[in-house]
Order: sequence, then C-alpha cells, then structure tokens
Amino acid sequence: MKHKLFTPGPTPLPEEVRLIQARGIIHHRSKEFSDVFKEIREELRYVFQTKEEVLLFSSSGTGAMEAVVANLFSPGDKVLVIRGGKFGERWAEIAAAFSLKVFSIDLEWGHVVNPELIEKNLREDSGIKAVFTQLVETSTGVVYDIETIARVTKGKGVILIVDAVSGLGAEALCTDKWGVDVVVAGSQKALMIPPGLAFVALSGKAWKLTNNSNLPRYYWDFKKAKKAQDKNQTVYTPAITLVCALGESLRLLKKEGWDNVLSRHAKLAKATRQGVMALGLQIFSETPSNVLTAVEIPLSVGVKRLRGLMRDRYGVEVAGGQAALAEKIIRIAHLGAMEATDIIVVLSALEMSLSELGYPVEMGKGIAAAEEILGR
Ligand code: PMP
Repeated sequence: MKHKLFTPGPTPLPEEVRLIQARGIIHHRSKEFSDVFKEIREELRYVFQTKEEVLLFSSSGTGAMEAVVANLFSPGDKVLVIRGGKFGERWAEIAAAFSLKVFSIDLEWGHVVNPELIEKNLREDSGIKAVFTQLVETSTGVVYDIETIARVTKGKGVILIVDAVSGLGAEALCTDKWGVDVVVAGSQKALMIPPGLAFVALSGKAWKLTNNSNLPRYYWDFKKAKKAQDKNQTVYTPAITLVCALGESLRLLKKEGWDNVLSRHAKLAKATRQGVMALGLQIFSETPSNVLTAVEIPLSVGVKRLRGLMRDRYGVEVAGGQAALAEKIIRIAHLGAMEATDIIVVLSALEMSLSELGYPVEMGKGIAAAEEILGR
C-alpha cells in the first residue's frame, strides 16, 4: 500500500529531494559543500523575505525556538506570549525555562488574537521586550494576522518574534516589509525535506539584543553561526544530507515561483475546506490557515477510529488533535509537495471511512465540491 502523508510535518518528499539524499556524502569543509551552502543562503533570504542572513541549525524547529530565547534575552526580561494552542504554550514554556518573566494573552483554542489586545498589553507595561507568536498555530489550524500585529510592535522598544515553523511557504510572511524581527522555521513542512533543519532570521533590531543577553549558550550561539555562514560554512558538522536536500527543494520552489507556491497552498486549502463542509462537517478554526484544515469530528464517529481506518484501509495519514482536542478534531494538512489530486485522495478516503463508521455521507459530494475549486 502506498503511504500518503497529510500531516502538518513531516510532509511528502518530492522525488528530486529523495534522490539527492541517496548520493554519497560530501564533506562539510569542502568547496562542494560551500558552493551548495552559498546558494542556499541566497535562496533562504528570498524565501524568508529578508535582506538579513538566515541562520541554519541542525535540529528540529523547537531547537531554534529555544535558541531565540537563549540569544536575545536575560533572566527577568518581560515578554508577552500569545497562547492560542500547543505551540503558543511552547514559547511560554521555553521562556519560563530560561527565567524570563512571562505574560500571556490566553485565547480559546481555535480563536485568533486581536492585535488591539496586544497593543493594550504593551501600553500598560512599557517594560515588555518582545511579543512571541505563531504565523500558524498548527494545533488549531488558525493563521494569525502578523502584518497587523507587526504594525503594533513596529517602531517601539519591543521586538516581534514569529514561529513560522509550519506557516512559512504556505502563508505570506513579508518579514522585512512588515517589520517582523525574528522568524523561526523548520525543514519538514513547506520546504519539503525531512525533519532535522531549523532556521532563524533576525532583523537588525533583534541582532542588537544579542549584545545584551547574558543567558548561557554554546551550540546555539547566533553570532558564531553568523560568522561561519558569512564564509559559507557552519560552525559545527551540519546535517549535510539535509542541507543538500534543501538545496534541491529550494531549486524546485524557485522554479515554481514563490507567489505560485503560496497561491497553490491557498487553493488546496480552499478546496479541502469546501470538500469537508460539503460533507456537513464543521471547520474548527476561526481563521483557517493554508497549512492545514482542522475538522470537527462527531463523537459518534470518533477521531481515533476515523484516523485508524483512513490509515489502515487507504494508506492516508491525517493528524489528530492535540491535548484537549485529541478526540475532537482531525487535521488534514495540505502542506509542501501537494497538488490537486492529493486533495481528491484525502477527501475520498475521508468519505469512505466516514461512511463505514456510520456517518451519513453522500458519496462523492466532498470530492465534487473540491473539484469545483481545483478545476478552476
Ligand atoms: N511550532 C509550530 C507552529 C509547529 O507546527 C511545530 C511542529 N509541528 C513546532 C513549532 C515544533 O517543531 P519541531 O517539532 O520541529 O520541533
């Protein structure tokens, strides 16, 4: 059976990306590696929409989140965290682990943050040094309005830190133009390579904070990383195979065109939403993202049984909910190397599985609704 991933990371790998990883390993202190890395540095600037260097680390996304806290702050620094789901909570946990003073705006899961609330918090406490948020809160499928949030933080003594681990490449993020100070991303999402690389882009304003931070760090030192990257090197042995895979995936994305990558995600997301709604199911997210569609599943069907059937019978892997949402939603990702017919596959598996589990389905109705969008 073919195994088909519709999870918000890892995502499917294009054939070109798979094949390059089968090649023999090259040495990271060779000209060959430096040449690949040089090209990658240039492309990453474009993908992150910044003129600044994008730092690369061999780790999962969370490592880069922790590195941001360790490089920019000192114990006791006040920070404001938007906590709208699992990954908002993660920012707060990391900041607390490094003894920052954490204030949070707690949202009901599935809801979006009102930028005015952020403004109010900053007005009431001028000592807050940073606002931490997500571009897409993957646990709820919600996309936040970063452009408007950045208007609130721009020009003030506060930096805006955006976890775009899942959102980069699926949602617009104009880092420099909007005035976002820190962007974190990971490899196993829209960048279409396996897990294991993480990225951090920093504005000039954010770089300045690294001079005053006194938290301990060694492997994660941003200044050391930057110095090495300026010479097309990494400080330590990188995940060389993944770096080569990244070179290939960035070439593919460039060939497609960044705007086309974003509009493809938007179209697939819209088709998925129309498809599930045509089946009478509800979308969980207040502002549904182009990364994934979070779908409320009736208790009579059961998330575990539905996911199990989709996987075991049809080879289709969708994600369940996290924490309190475990038994409430499934998350269908349309992220990375995905195309129109993939959406038909996942909706078809959903229809057949729902029907078998006793949910009334008019077969083909979800697919037809999706095709209306996809065929345009
Ligand atoms: N933030 C967001 C928004 C994510 O979606 C994820 C991964 N699902 C992470 C952070 C954590 O990334 P990782 O699992 O690669 O550490």
